[in-house]
Amino acid sequence: MATITLRNLVKSYGKTDVIHGINLEVADGEFVVFVGPSGCGKSTTLRMIAGLEEVSGGEILIGDRVVNELDPKTRNIAMVFQNYAIYPHLTVRQNIAFGLYTSTLSKEQKAAKVSEAGAMLGLEPLLDRRPSDLSGGQRQRVAIGRAMVRDPAAFLFDEPLSNLDAQLRAQMRIEIKALHQRLGTTIAYVTHDQVEAMTMADRIVVMRDGHILQSGAPMEIYDN
Ligand code: ADP
Ligand code: ADP
Repeated sequence: MATITLRNLVKSYGKTDVIHGINLEVADGEFVVFVGPSGCGKSTTLRMIAGLEEVSGGEILIGDRVVNELDPKTRNIAMVFQNYAIYPHLTVRQNIAFGLYTSTLSKEQKAAKVSEAGAMLGLEPLLDRRPSDLSGGQRQRVAIGRAMVRDPAAFLFDEPLSNLDAQLRAQMRIEIKALHQRLGTTIAYVTHDQVEAMTMADRIVVMRDGHILQSGAPMEIYDN
């Protein structure tokens, strides 16, 4: 069960609180999109869930386990970033396999996972190419592949499409949504793009100044 629960979650930088005690329950398999103006705390929230930032107060639970005191590696969560974070000197195959860098799987099992992710993401013909040969959308798929091979209980996406042009964004929206439907994995997704939120979310969480202003189905959020 990969529910994500935030209980009274607080983040401060020095004396400044940027997250003011938020509460949220993301259901197993739910696709939750965080929206809100720049600086409202979306990315900080995601980074705390990933364990890239320490929490200043409150708790984060994955399933029924409080994880914020644990090593981030034990969280079984994979994050996909806006800037791809892929390695130019490695091939597509090697970049995807990098997600399994510290895995204890056998070489064959790793290769099988990389092939499976490559097939699911339509990267098969590109596995031996380098990122410089790829389009932005293909690179973003490599970054997703690297997260996928880890079999995470949840995916965290931080503005994954904002570097892409409009046409690719439209295509990737459909692909990420399809991937979610196929894998059924819990997803927390940050964007400032209303279309992304509307078309992808099971539920939209609207943040403002470090608070959750509103949370509901896309129709409820944008209908009024
Ligand atoms: P969003 O993702 O919604 O644009 P962020 O989570 O990036 O917002 O930032 C929330 C607030 O925290 C902002 O006011 C930002 O300036 C502040 N902040 C983020 N990272 C740091 C940091 N490392 N040090 C100090 N303040 C930070
Ligand atoms: P294991 O899951 O076998 O314990 P680790 O958690 O030790 O593997 O691997 C951790 C490293 O893998 C992290 O420090 C992180 O930099 C890297 N990594 C590669 N891809 C991702 C991803 N998509 N999300 C999170 N960490 C990733």
